[in-house]
Amino acid sequence: MRKIALYPGTFDPVTLGHLDIIRRGLRLFDSVVVTVAGNLGKKSLFNAQERKSLVEASVKGLKGVSVITHEGLTVDLAQEIGAVAILRGLRSMTDFDDEYQMAAMNARMQPDVETVFLSARADHAATASRLIKEVAKGGGAVDLFVPKPVVIPLTERLKQLK
Ligand code: ADP
Repeated sequence: MRKIALYPGTFDPVTLGHLDIIRRGLRLFDSVVVTVAGNLGKKSLFNAQERKSLVEASVKGLKGVSVITHEGLTVDLAQEIGAVAILRGLRSMTDFDDEYQMAAMNARMQPDVETVFLSARADHAATASRLIKEVAKGGGAVDLFVPKPVVIPLTERLKQLK
């Protein structure tokens, strides 16, 4: 049986840390379906379609990855597409606290879907979309933290907001 993992997130925007989780997930699963959280109103820098397009451009050439957007519960989507696992990344104890609770609740709702955590690699352990936006606002070198296709859209979007 082909094993599918669902990798949910906001991806506002996708970072090299996310990409690392996707690559490593592909070593464990036959395919990884990245699911971009639906529109978050004014809270996000990019809308869902833009975030999805940026993930697509960033995973180009990686075999076994597809990208979708979704509004409802992740566990329901996992069940719908026949995923055996929800893939998540852990950077810190704060991530752990949140993720552990979410995994426990998801397991109550869908006991057949496991949550698999990959710990962030040292290079990416401090990389967070929220901080990258601050770096970009300050005119910093975002190419250290985001995939190439994200660099220009990110700097342009922040310029427009100024
Ligand atoms: P969410 O809003 O669901 O936390 P994110 O887009 O911030 O969505 O992250 C999606 C997943 O990727 C989460 O499990 C998060 O912990 C993980 N993640 C984010 N950045 C990194 C990173 N630099 N290294 C490893 N995992 C990460």
